[in-house]
Amino acid sequence: MIDKELIDKFGKHIINADVSFDQEQFCVIFSAFKEFYEAIEKRNQDFMMYYKGIENPCTACGGLGTRAYGSTATWYGGIGGQMVTQGICDKCWGSGDKDKTWTDLRVLRSILTKEQAIKYNEITSKGI
Ligand SMILES: [Zn+2]
Repeated sequence: MIDKELIDKFGKHIINADVSFDQEQFCVIFSAFKEFYEAIEKRNQDFMMYYKGIENPCTACGGLGTRAYGSTATWYGGIGGQMVTQGICDKCWGSGDKDKTWTDLRVLRSILTKEQAIKYNEITSKGI
């Protein structure tokens, strides 16, 4: 089975070649391209996992640490524009590893808000 994305990516090189192929030859060559492409993808992913120290890739971002959100609000939530936006992954928080997540920015934001509230309370209770 030949998928459309790979035909778009590699098929034009085969079609634009100076030699002509019948359907069977095209499929053999295309399969070789596909196998090569998949091997490169796997090697790149393995390297990324090794480089970032990822043992169990995040299921949301596949180990990238970033993901596409449906609005400009990204992980922050709330009101956002109508545009798909790349942002830090809100499951692994950028680590790419589902078991070794980095700082949860939502928790950090809530802590900061609490600290600010305490500080505000201290200041206002002194009558400043
Ligand atoms: Zn992730």
